[in-house]
Amino acid sequence: MFCCPYCEKPGISVSHKLIMSPGSRVTCQTCGEISRVSAPAWLTDIFLGAVMMLASFFVDSELIKLILGSGGFVMMMLLPFIFTPLCKVS
Ligand SMILES: [Zn+2]
Repeated sequence: MFCCPYCEKPGISVSHKLIMSPGSRVTCQTCGEISRVSAPAWLTDIFLGAVMMLASFFVDSELIKLILGSGGFVMMMLLPFIFTPLCKVS
């Protein structure tokens, strides 16, 4: 569980945090307030994975293409999940 920015208690589930993007909202299971992720922070955190996936289109080696593509996808999922903070909907 992740801490809610309003009540600061673990009210946000792992599955909700994993699929969050700047357009999505999540309701705290403890206090009922609605949280979001900020677009600049989210874009910063997906940037490295996106670059790796894009780079995979421009290499000839199938092995390197597979490593860059799959590694980039995993990083695009994990880095925002771990590092992008939840913030209040103002
Ligand atoms: Zn809360």
